[in-house]
Amino acid sequence: MNVLVTGGAGYIGTHTCVELMEAGHEISVLDNFSNSNPEALKRVSEITGKEFPIHQVDLLDAKAVEGVFSQGSYDAVIHFAGLKAVGESVQKPLEYYMNNVTGTLVLCQAMQKHGVTRLVFSSSATVYGTAEKMPLTEDLPIAAINPYGRTKVMIEQILTDLAASSQQFSIALLRYFNPVGAHKSGRIGEDPSGIPNNLTPYISKVAVGVLPELPVFGNDYDTPDGTCIRDYIHVMDLANGHVKALEKISSTTGVNAYNLGTGVGYSVMDVIHAFEQASGVKIRYRVTDRRPGDAPVSYADATKAGNELGWKAKRTLLEMCEDLWRWQSNNANGYQSQR
Ligand code: NAD
Ligand code: UDP
Repeated sequence: MNVLVTGGAGYIGTHTCVELMEAGHEISVLDNFSNSNPEALKRVSEITGKEFPIHQVDLLDAKAVEGVFSQGSYDAVIHFAGLKAVGESVQKPLEYYMNNVTGTLVLCQAMQKHGVTRLVFSSSATVYGTAEKMPLTEDLPIAAINPYGRTKVMIEQILTDLAASSQQFSIALLRYFNPVGAHKSGRIGEDPSGIPNNLTPYISKVAVGVLPELPVFGNDYDTPDGTCIRDYIHVMDLANGHVKALEKISSTTGVNAYNLGTGVGYSVMDVIHAFEQASGVKIRYRVTDRRPGDAPVSYADATKAGNELGWKAKRTLLEMCEDLWRWQSNNANGYQSQR
């Protein structure tokens, strides 16, 4: 298939571009590079040995998006482009609604106009809000608790309405759990700007000495070691989930949500220990107050993706940490590092 990948220069996008091309698909990338570096796409070409069209376009620029669809003939779109920092979304809600929701509307209008009806959308486990029942299943009510999460809920609803309006549309809503790790080459990986918000990039920056110590946000939760539990999934397993979803929506219509997680939860301390084992580096940490809004436990029931997409996460937590370490130790300053 010929696939347009929005946000293809970002963390999950680059890994998915590699997986798509290795599965025999052709790709074009649309990205405004607001949270990514063109160097990432050079490295995707280096890994795969394949060149592909890159459109430096902002999804809010409807004319430019229209231009991309006029130039290419796409069988499907994978839509990663969006802003993703929960804390920032509380400070700048309008920016988040504008970029994520309006950007998606602009994209869908161009798709509809050009008869492109297959879409894989990056949703998030955050749509489940404060669900008490674990593991999380796709049929639970969705109700996010911050502006970022609400953009995902709104977009899921918009796409559901779109699919209901026309039998032509076939849409997969992929609800990611916690993507971590990097491609095994160590050439592409997560490259957050400034101090990372997420656990594993923070740990790896402590390991290379860029940050002094990890704050562990609370050890008084009702969990075996008192720290929060999450479902960490290797980014290459997640990338493969997109290839499987693409295959699925080629032979179906309508809209479907799928959890992409391993189904296994690990605590913050488990992750620190696995990273120490993978890297041989002792991680300095300090237990601090809880981070407001953190759920004590979150992990997926990924049965539906297994049954309907034929997909299952394969890589272990240790492998996630080994691959993250290879990326981080070879690229202490991400894509700004010397090649
Ligand atoms: P990322 O920030 O690395 O990638 C997003 C890409 O989209 C960036 O390259 C950015 O430049 C681009 N972009 C943003 N707004 C754009 C716009 N208006 N026009 C064109 N390009 C634009 O993020 P990621 O971690 O790769 O996440 C990809 C998607 O997955 C996002 O939608 C995110 O909300 C979702 N998601 C991520 C996680 C996670 O933990 N990383 C978890 C759940 C869901
Ligand atoms: N966490 C932490 N210190 C950090 C960042 C995260 O202890 O510097 C914890 C956080 O409380 C949560 C887990 O690590 O329990 C995963 O956090 P992350 O932000 O990576 O993912 P999310 O909260 O979105 O699931």
